[in-house]
Amino acid sequence: MTAITDPAPEAAAALTRREELQKRFSTLSPPTRLHIDGRQVDALDGAVLERVSPRDGRVIARVAAGGAPDIDRAVASARRAFDSGRWSDLHPRRRRAVLQRLARLVEEHAEELALLESVDMGKPYTDALAVDLRVTVQTLDFYAEAADKVYDEVAPTGPETLATVTREPLGVVGAVVPWNFPLMMAVWKIAPALAAGNTMVLKPAEQSPLTALRLAELATEAGVPDGVLNVVPGLGPTAGAALGRHPDVDALTFTGSGEVGRLFLAYSAESNIKQVSLELGGKSPQIVLPDAPDLDVVARAVAGGIFFNQGEVCSAGSRLLVHRSVKDELLELVVEEARRTVVGDPLDPRTRVGALVEERHLERVLGHVRGAVEDGARAVVGGGRVLADTGGCYVEPTVFDGVDPAMRIARQEVFGPVLSVIAFDDDEEAVRIANSTDYGLAAAVWTRDLSTAHRMSRAVRAGTVWVNCFDDSDITVPFGGYGQSGFGRDKSLHALDKYTQLKTTWIKL
Ligand code: NAP
Ligand code: MG
Repeated sequence: MTAITDPAPEAAAALTRREELQKRFSTLSPPTRLHIDGRQVDALDGAVLERVSPRDGRVIARVAAGGAPDIDRAVASARRAFDSGRWSDLHPRRRRAVLQRLARLVEEHAEELALLESVDMGKPYTDALAVDLRVTVQTLDFYAEAADKVYDEVAPTGPETLATVTREPLGVVGAVVPWNFPLMMAVWKIAPALAAGNTMVLKPAEQSPLTALRLAELATEAGVPDGVLNVVPGLGPTAGAALGRHPDVDALTFTGSGEVGRLFLAYSAESNIKQVSLELGGKSPQIVLPDAPDLDVVARAVAGGIFFNQGEVCSAGSRLLVHRSVKDELLELVVEEARRTVVGDPLDPRTRVGALVEERHLERVLGHVRGAVEDGARAVVGGGRVLADTGGCYVEPTVFDGVDPAMRIARQEVFGPVLSVIAFDDDEEAVRIANSTDYGLAAAVWTRDLSTAHRMSRAVRAGTVWVNCFDDSDITVPFGGYGQSGFGRDKSLHALDKYTQLKTTWIKL
C-alpha cells in the first residue's frame, strides 16, 4: 500500500490539481430537492438526509428524503405524463433529438458531474470522468439513436392474414439503483426506458443522490417533458419499498444486493405483479491456466479487476483461480501491483483506489477480512484501514492466499478491494470452483489455446466471459447475470426488452 504523504516535486502538481478540484467543488450548488413533475420540491414531511463524503467524513449536502407519499406524487406525475402521450406518442425522431440534447448537456457538464460523483461516493475523480461520464454519454447517444432505428415485425402467418408484432412501452417504470456507479447505472436504465417511450421514477441510493438530481435538471433543460423523469432520493425501506409495492408502477428495474433484490420480487407478488429485473452482483473468477499469455499482463488485469472503483464493482474479479504451476510467480506479481496501487483522496490525480462509500460499508468489508483470517486464509498484503486521520473511509488493497473454495471469503461478495487466491490442478477443477458460488455475473479465462478458451468460456456459468482480458466493455453488448446474479440485461438493444411489451395485431384479410 502506498499512501500519499511524500511532498516530492512530482507531487506538487497533483496537490495543486487536488486543491483546484476541491475549490471547484465548493462553488457547486447541485439541486438537493426531489424532482417531481419537472419541479424541485421538498419531501411532504420535510425529511432530509445528510450527505457525508467518505473522502473526509464531512457533510457536503442536505438532500430531501422522499417517503411513500412522495413516491405516490412521483408515480402520479409519471402516470399523467405517460397517459397524456406527450412522450410515448411523440414521433421517435423527436424522442431521439431530446435524448441527444441530454447527451450533449451531460457531455458539457461532465467535469461537474464527475466531481459531484467523486465527492459524494468516494471514487477517484479521474475514473469518474474517464469511465462513468464517458459511458453515460455513450449510453444516452446509443439509445437516442435506437429510438428511431429499431423496427417491429410482421409474422409469417400466411396469405389470409397480416399479423404484426409491435413493441409498446410498458408505462411507468420504477428504477432503484446503488451507489457504486450512481449516474452510469441510472442511465443504463433511464436511456432505454425513455427511448422506448416510458415514463419513470428513479430512486437513487441514499449514499449518492447528487448526480441523479442534477441529471433530472439537465433532462428538463434538454426538453424531456415534465413528469417523464422523476427522481426521488430517500431510504430503501421507505421510498424504495413504496416504489416496489406501488400498484401503478408497471415495471421495476433494480441493481444492488441479492437481499434487496429478493424483496422486490416479494413487493411485486404482493402488489400488481409488476415486471421485475434484477442485477445483483457477483463473485467473478479470473481463471489463469499454465499457458496464460504474459503473467505481467495478467497481474495488471487481476489487480485492476479487483481494485478498480475500490472493488465496489458487481463484476469485480474477486477470485483468482490459478493453476498451481504458475501460482507463486503470479501471486508475487499481483502483490507487487497491490503495493504499487495508490490509495488516497479521490480528488488527487495519483489516486487509484479512493474511499469506500461510507463507514458502515467499511466496517462490512473489514468484517469480511476478519472472517477470512478466522477461516484460515492468509493476508499477503493489506487487510487494514488506512488514512483514518483524514476522517475518510480508506482500506488497503488486500490479497488473501491459501483460500479454500468453501471459505466465506471465497463465496460472499465483499464489495471492497479484497482478492482471494485459490490454486487448482486441472481445467475441470477450475471450472468446478468457478461455478461453485451462487453467483454468475462474469468470469475471465487466460490461455493461449483457442480450443481451451472456447471450451472454458462455455463451461463457466456467467453472463459475461472475458478471454485474455478483464472488464473490457462496450454499450453494444448486454450485461447481466446467471444464477443469483439476477435476470434481465442492461446495455445493448436487448435492454429494450425490459422496457417494452409485445403487441400482436392479427388482421383478417
Ligand atoms: P442495497 O441495500 O441493495 O441498495 C441498493 C438500492 O436498494 C438502494 O437504492 C437502497 O436504498 C435500496 N434499498 C435498500 N433496502 C431496500 C428495501 N428494503 N426496499 C427497497 N429498496 C431498498 O445495497 P447496499 O446496502 O448499498 O450494499 C450492500 C451490499 O450489496 C454490498 O456490500 C454489495 O455486496 C451489494 N451491492 C451490489 C451492487 C451491484 O452493483 N450489484 C451495488 C451495491 C451494492 P438505500 O440507499 O436506502 O440503501
Ligand atoms: Mg442499503
